[in-house]
Amino acid sequence: MKLSIENLHATIDGKPILKGLNLEVRAGEIHAIMGPNGAGKSTLVHVLAGHPAYSITEGKILLDDQDISTLEPEERAKLGLFVSFQTPPEIPGVSLVHFLHQITNSVRKLPLSEELFLPLLEKKMNLLKIELHFKERQLNDGFSGGEKKRSEILQMALLDPKVALLDEIDSGLDVDAMRIIAESINQLMTPQKALILITHYQRFLDLVRPHFVHVLIDGKIAQSGDHTLALQLEEQGYDLS
Ligand code: ADP
Ligand code: MG
Repeated sequence: MKLSIENLHATIDGKPILKGLNLEVRAGEIHAIMGPNGAGKSTLVHVLAGHPAYSITEGKILLDDQDISTLEPEERAKLGLFVSFQTPPEIPGVSLVHFLHQITNSVRKLPLSEELFLPLLEKKMNLLKIELHFKERQLNDGFSGGEKKRSEILQMALLDPKVALLDEIDSGLDVDAMRIIAESINQLMTPQKALILITHYQRFLDLVRPHFVHVLIDGKIAQSGDHTLALQLEEQGYDLS
């Protein structure tokens, strides 16, 4: 498995945000993307997901050598791309269990009946140490920061993606909640999968140790290194000159 982002340029409302971004991610690898606010990190997530508000003006996104940059979001998900957004939407009236059942079936060739889905869900919830009654809550409605992030990780567990891209999955969490999220991510990571974590916190990268750290500045990768780059950034900030 390989995700290749090649010379990606993207705009929103005609405004260029991504300006020639290159990144290659292979199975078994964990990549961290750091960088100042407004650099385009969440834009990269939206563009990879296929969000209709963003336009790719140059470059491509290849998943196993297939160009996915014009595919619909559902088609990308079916190919094994999972994206968690920085601010997941709240959808009162839709229970978490119903939502999770829908998204799970949307990436499967054969849909799972409720009788088959519920045991699968409970297995994943147990793995992630999430209490079973949590599934009856309305999607993200009144969820604490930690609960929203755990709901995203539960989605990832069910969809079992080849590549997961998590945008600030650690932000707004207290130390214990951050540790739980990190443990869950480590549980789900396998040599067949790749993970891209967008984060501001080197402390989080102590818990989910990346193989590569990239700094995104002004729409492109300005520097790449190993996990020690995160330490260096914490001390020096993003001024790389
Ligand atoms: P980051 O996640 O790195 O903090 P973003 O990708 O969210 O950065 O934002 C990158 C830039 O895109 C910012 O300058 C932001 O103001 C701009 N931007 C994001 N969304 C919109 C939008 N809907 N319309 C215009 N500009 C936007
Ligand atoms: Mg962001």
